[in-house]
Amino acid sequence: MNRTAEVVIIGGGVTGASLAYHLARRGVTHVVVLEKKFLASGGTGRSIGIIRQLYPTQEASQMVFRSLRVFQSFRERVGGDSGYVGCGALIGVSEHMLPALKHSMEVQKATGIRAELLSPNEALSIEPRINPQGLAGLVYEPESGYGDPSGVTMGYARAARDLGVAIEQGVEVTGIRLSGDRVVGVTTASGEALDAPVVVNAAGLWAAIVARLARAELPIVVGRHPVFVVKRPAAFGPSHLVYLDLAGGSYVRPETGDLTLTGSLTEDETRHPMDPELLGSEVGFEEAAVALERTSQALPSLADGEYQDGYAGAFDITPDWMPILDESPIRGLYIAAGMSGHGFKLAPAVGELMAELITEGRTTINRAPFRLDRFAETRARGGSFVSSYLG
Ligand SMILES: Cc1cc2nc3c(=O)[nH]c(=O)nc-3n(C[C@H](O)[C@H](O)[C@H](O)COP(=O)(O)OP(=O)(O)OC[C@H]3O[C@@H](n4cnc5c(N)ncnc54)[C@H](O)[C@@H]3O)c2cc1C
Repeated sequence: MNRTAEVVIIGGGVTGASLAYHLARRGVTHVVVLEKKFLASGGTGRSIGIIRQLYPTQEASQMVFRSLRVFQSFRERVGGDSGYVGCGALIGVSEHMLPALKHSMEVQKATGIRAELLSPNEALSIEPRINPQGLAGLVYEPESGYGDPSGVTMGYARAARDLGVAIEQGVEVTGIRLSGDRVVGVTTASGEALDAPVVVNAAGLWAAIVARLARAELPIVVGRHPVFVVKRPAAFGPSHLVYLDLAGGSYVRPETGDLTLTGSLTEDETRHPMDPELLGSEVGFEEAAVALERTSQALPSLADGEYQDGYAGAFDITPDWMPILDESPIRGLYIAAGMSGHGFKLAPAVGELMAELITEGRTTINRAPFRLDRFAETRARGGSFVSSYLG
């Protein structure tokens, strides 16, 4: 006889772990998480974990606001360490981006997010090392910062296990079993069949591949997003906050050991599709030089830093750079994927929303911007990374 579960979750990244926990908290404890490698071995383990709170829609703002509260009190709420560091974040924009920034800040205000609009000169009093040239305004978010995506995954997984969830690592799902228009279970690489009326595709960078097991297509591109590690020069002084320079196209986030993680916000990920198996592979010296030049423009005193390392990361990107959180046209087969580079900061709220959807068929936060069928409308097809901040 086949093993049975109420819910099978495919993927043990931060999304799958958060969902498993939230289902169990709602009393759905016969949940099995199947992870082909090990927990957080996908995009989650390569993430730099920035938490910023600037989104152009009420729904995404509510999601990040709820998630931040969880990161801030993770030990008490979930257990374990979220690694949250509330160093603050500055997000700089050019003249032509300023009206859109002001609009997103209205949304922030309505959501209760703490944020302040600063002139470039005012921003220098918070972080004197940024280069104000080319900036027309900046939003300062004092509670933003970064967290530890692997730590959050482990925290959720441990808490879910304590509530009865089975987490099986080294188990690859190789088949999704259907009966008519509904899902009835999965099969694994070892040939085992599991019966379940609900299966969730939380396979991150592999979500489109997993969808094809059910003969379904997802509008997700895996786009390369390399990360570079720089040792700050001694003269740099104390650590810095998170700085996202949307005008110049770069970001920095501090790391322990006088290190800074940096990369580009040039929105060219979709032009560089990547095989997810190349996650973590080496980056070329030339591309590092180009990215670090951009970083030095944003934060000139980092120009004397020492390049340490780099690796290929990737995002699972939808056409509007927003996640898909929905039941698929195949009944019982749910999708929590296409995180488009926001999957860490939104993970607590994503798990909560998906658990509500699966157990009650309704959600507290309006789910319309995350529905799969939104891509039928032209409006949802032309997004960019910057549009996920500014609309
Ligand atoms: C370099 C980089 C920087 C990032 N920076 C940020 C940031 O600053 N802030 C932020 O909020 N987000 C950021 N992100 C995005 C965020 O980290 C991801 O969106 C999030 O971690 C995705 O989690 P996930 O669980 O959806 O997917 P993944 O972490 O990719 O997990 C999916 C899991 O599914 C498993 N799997 C796949 N196929 C199968 C199968 N057939 N059977 C069983 N298991 C399977 C994989 O092994 C994997 O562990 C970044 C990501 C990267 C890569």
